[in-house]
Amino acid sequence: MATDDVTKRLVTCLCGKSTVTFITSMPDHPWVRASQTSYSATIDCKECRENYVVYQESYKDQPGIVHRDEVEAKNAARENYWVADEAIKQSEEAERLRPKIIAAIDNESSMAARLRKLIEFGLSDESYGTYRKQPYGGVEAIGRATGATVARIGNNEALSRNYFAMFALGTCCFRK
Ligand SMILES: [Zn+2]
Repeated sequence: MATDDVTKRLVTCLCGKSTVTFITSMPDHPWVRASQTSYSATIDCKECRENYVVYQESYKDQPGIVHRDEVEAKNAARENYWVADEAIKQSEEAERLRPKIIAAIDNESSMAARLRKLIEFGLSDESYGTYRKQPYGGVEAIGRATGATVARIGNNEALSRNYFAMFALGTCCFRK
C-alpha cells in the first residue's frame, strides 16, 4: 500500500516502560472518504503484550488496548447474544408476528410508502433511489432480520400483544 498516507502516534504503554503505536492510514488521493480510513495498533512493549492485546471490532474502528481476560469475556458475551437472538427468531412469538409484519409492509399502497414502513421497522436504511432499483417486500425483509429486530418491531408496534416483552431484549453487550 505504497500510496497510503500513514500517521503514527506513540503513547506510553500501561507499564510505562515502552509504547503503544496507533496507526491511521488512508489512501493518499484527494477524493479520499472518511470510510476509507483504517486504524490499527501495536503494543511495542514485551511485558505488556503478555497481559494486553489490541482489540477492535473492525479495522474501521479505533483500536483499544484491553486485558486478555476482557477479550475472552467479550467473546463469550457475543456468543451468548447470538444464541439468544437465534432463539428469538425461532420462537413461536416470532412465528406469530412475522405474517403481521409482512402484511404491514406489503399492504402499503406505493413503493415509497413501503420503503417508509421498512425504515420505520428498522428493516432498511436505503434511499428511495436505491430501493427503487431493487425493491423487495415483507417476506424478503423479515427473512434478513435478526431476532432482535423482530422482537423490537413486536414491542413497538401494536401488532402483537406484547409477546416479546418477556425478552426485554438484551440489547446487551453488543448493540449500542
Ligand atoms: Zn509496557
